[in-house]
Amino acid sequence: MLRIAVQSKGRLNEDTMCLLAESGIKLSPSKRTLLVPSTTFPLEILFLRDDDIPQSVANGTADVGIVGENEYVEKHQGSEIVKRLGFGKCRLSLAIPKDEEYNNLNWFAGKKIATSYPEILADFLKKNGVKADIHVITGSVEIAPGIGLADAIFDIVSSGSTLVSNRLKEVEVVMKSEAIMIAHPSLPKEKKEILAELLFRIDSVLYADGKKYIMLNAPNEKLNEIVDILPGVKSPTIIPLSKEGWSSLHSVIEEKRFWEVIGKLKSCGAQGILVLPIEKMIL
Ligand code: ATP
Ligand code: MG
Repeated sequence: MLRIAVQSKGRLNEDTMCLLAESGIKLSPSKRTLLVPSTTFPLEILFLRDDDIPQSVANGTADVGIVGENEYVEKHQGSEIVKRLGFGKCRLSLAIPKDEEYNNLNWFAGKKIATSYPEILADFLKKNGVKADIHVITGSVEIAPGIGLADAIFDIVSSGSTLVSNRLKEVEVVMKSEAIMIAHPSLPKEKKEILAELLFRIDSVLYADGKKYIMLNAPNEKLNEIVDILPGVKSPTIIPLSKEGWSSLHSVIEEKRFWEVIGKLKSCGAQGILVLPIEKMIL
């Protein structure tokens, strides 16, 4: 049995549970508790606050965990990154009141910076030779300058709208972050095998993400041209149609490229274009 620590509630919870469900991991229907076993996979889920996940994996309370990279770097305690998961993307940035003039990092010398990530910030300031006063607060960091608690903040930014509504501007991006899977550095063989199977399933889900299955009909003499248009297609499946001189072409495309190529496909005579979702992809 492998024990995985995940965020009990908060921004990463939903995507994490979704990824596990798509990987075929169903949970026991028992009332939601701290530790819930799966009924379909040798895995149990330990629900924790994200702050506690790096430590629980490092000390072996959990074998693996899913956590924001920012939290992992801040609490770095001897667990290992085994997979980048591509969701929960954000950045950790320095922001200052919007009307301040900003030229470079020297602005922060002698200033008071509010943050929930003192380790990452201290490390960044040290590397850049800036001496500032780090003021640790948990939660609602962005209001600190407005109420005179600090001159600047160091916090998570995704769209930047929270900064704008607090009359702040982002001036330095210190690190980029996404959800990652971390593991205890010395798992026994049996647990390593379960983790390998879990990672295989997660890969199949992540790989299919954003990809679509495309089918279209085209005149045979246009097939080469169509294959050239479809990005990333190595070897599409081509099946003859009962209509003389026509074939059906099946392939996989990135959803985000689809609108780019649709017009070209049509002008090559493609017809009956179908785009279908892909649930899993095993390479
Ligand atoms: P907990 O109660 O578990 O301690 P929290 O309040 O500390 O939760 P959340 O706000 O739920 O944390 O954020 C969890 C993680 O999600 C962050 O550490 C970060 O990696 C990521 N994250 C936070 N804010 C955003 C955002 N705006 N966009 C994308 N990802 C984000
Ligand atoms: Mg937290």
